[in-house]
Amino acid sequence: MHGGGGGGGGGGGPMRSLVHGTDEKPKITRSLLKRVFAYAWPYRGHLAILLFLILVMTGLNLVNPLIMRTLIDRAIPEKNLTLLLWLSIGLLVVPTISALLHVMQRRINATVGEGVIFDLRVALYDRLQHMSLRFFTNTRVGELMSRMNNDVIGAQTAVSSTVVSAITHFVQAVAVLVVMFSLEWRLTLISLVIMPLFILATRKLGLKLRVIAQKQMSANAQMNAMMGETLNIGGALLVKLFGQKKQEVDRFSSRARDVRQLGVDRAFTGSQFIAIVGLISAVGTSLVSGLGGYFVIQNAFTIGTIVAFGTYLSSLYSALQGLSSAPVEFSTSVVSFERVFEVLDLSLDIDEKPQAVVLNDVKGDIVFEDISFQYEKGDERFLSDVHRYGSIDSVTAVLSGKEDVHDDEEEETHSQARSYALSDVNFHVFPGQLVALVGPSGAGKTTLTYLLPRLYDPTRGRILIDGHDLRDVSLDSIAAQIGMVTQEATLFHDTIRTNLLYAKSSATQSELEEACRAANIHDFIHDLPDGYDTVVGERGYRLSGGEKQRIALARVILKDPRILVLDEATSSLDSESEALIQEALKRVMRGRTSIVIAHRLSTILAADMILVVDRGQIAERGTHKELLALGGLYANLYHTQFKKTEKAE
Ligand code: ADP
Repeated sequence: MHGGGGGGGGGGGPMRSLVHGTDEKPKITRSLLKRVFAYAWPYRGHLAILLFLILVMTGLNLVNPLIMRTLIDRAIPEKNLTLLLWLSIGLLVVPTISALLHVMQRRINATVGEGVIFDLRVALYDRLQHMSLRFFTNTRVGELMSRMNNDVIGAQTAVSSTVVSAITHFVQAVAVLVVMFSLEWRLTLISLVIMPLFILATRKLGLKLRVIAQKQMSANAQMNAMMGETLNIGGALLVKLFGQKKQEVDRFSSRARDVRQLGVDRAFTGSQFIAIVGLISAVGTSLVSGLGGYFVIQNAFTIGTIVAFGTYLSSLYSALQGLSSAPVEFSTSVVSFERVFEVLDLSLDIDEKPQAVVLNDVKGDIVFEDISFQYEKGDERFLSDVHRYGSIDSVTAVLSGKEDVHDDEEEETHSQARSYALSDVNFHVFPGQLVALVGPSGAGKTTLTYLLPRLYDPTRGRILIDGHDLRDVSLDSIAAQIGMVTQEATLFHDTIRTNLLYAKSSATQSELEEACRAANIHDFIHDLPDGYDTVVGERGYRLSGGEKQRIALARVILKDPRILVLDEATSSLDSESEALIQEALKRVMRGRTSIVIAHRLSTILAADMILVVDRGQIAERGTHKELLALGGLYANLYHTQFKKTEKAE
């Protein structure tokens, strides 16, 4: 929907009643208005010109009926051809100038409107880029899209259209009334008799329209959220695998049905509104023409006056109509502003200190000091709609996939369920060392690796890199020093070259090739139809898992970080690409501090230290030999799990 928040059609009465009414959203406060006003302020020059044009155009629009009146009352009866000629020219010139000014006005209006959209969008996008992983795991893409599109467009109408049209209509109404009174005050009073009816009707229907517009906004957001979830590769795959096509179509059509119904309701109420306003205006026009005609017959005033009056009357009524719907439209757009502000006001849970240290040359010394970590903070302040949509369908839980931690490893261990994902984790990795993390699924290995690049902050304790608390270091320098390769590598929908350059934009072709050779992927890329210019599908889906991971490795090699965090491939890969990856990994890890979630025997054998994670704690630590001799959890894992991988290596 275009202008999600914009354009309730009509309404009236004081803003107060509109804002309370049926609305569950926060009130329109002075500080909110001030903030909205701040977005208009950069365009004050444009808005001033706009105001000036409006005044001139309103003045011009008053001229034509007067020309008409002179033409009828003087030029024709007096048979004055010169006057007739001049008046006819006037009837052409005035609308021409008016049209030109109108074009200018529209242009300036669009400049302001699009400018506000731009400002809001960029501010939103910037804010979202600073949000933590926690935010993204708790927010649906569809919801964010809806804020970035519908609400931003809805919000700008407050600045560029609603206020401008309210001023236009106000100026028009006052000017027309002044002229009307000066022409014939009695007729003017008669034409105002219908005012109370007018206000009553616009207010009632305007409120109704506003409620519909809001429902429409949320119905659209729900439909979008559902599309976002099921029309991407992951969702589509799930739908197919579970044979849920029909159910999804049903679910979608129920959302789309709401959108359809509300669209019809809105059109119907809108047309009712127009019909009623037209009817009331007709009452006015009929009264004025009847009585006016009577007075002409009585020779009280001229035909020209009645004709001119008719024209003024319709512009008076259209101005009043516009004016009465302005508060509704304005408050609707302010609600959109509010939804945009809600995103802009999200607190940054991973933030940089003002005097954050920039780490340039890192040795790669890592200390985890009494680290405990809990995913649920309890004080999350995410977008208001997230939970509402989040609870709707069971597919959400399935898609988020976190429930799905059962695999064969689980059989030989106890449940990993607990409130703290990590508790009291302590270890020290010296520069250049390789640390292997092993442990049952759900033990907290991934979580542990997420803390290092500060994707999450520990709930208690601190993490030091070369003696600096991560929280004191600039986020960019953490990103620059740590390279992370996850199991499910993400590639942008773009060429392989662009994906690689993401790590180092200045890399030359030979650097790219060198990195790809080191990652054992160069030959593969070379044989592709477009070589390095081959576009990889959304999320790199046209590549196999192993190929994607090797491209991701090449990307990290180009970045050349001091610290490497790896989630080693599980046995889901075929042994050939497995071997290629293992070989590449060895090369990549050389000379860097590496923390690896290990699934291969060769990795744990090469590790300087193995940390056995269980239920969020480090249960055992040492080298392969030491741990085997201990005969505990590690020995158990070794016999049931790692030994199996021996043959493949
Ligand atoms: P591992 O990598 O060892 O399999 P994880 O670190 O992925 O284990 O998970 C550790 C625990 O944290 C699990 O119980 C898991 O359910 C939980 N967990 C993981 N991610 C989240 C999240 N985003 N929100 C809440 N809990 C999570």
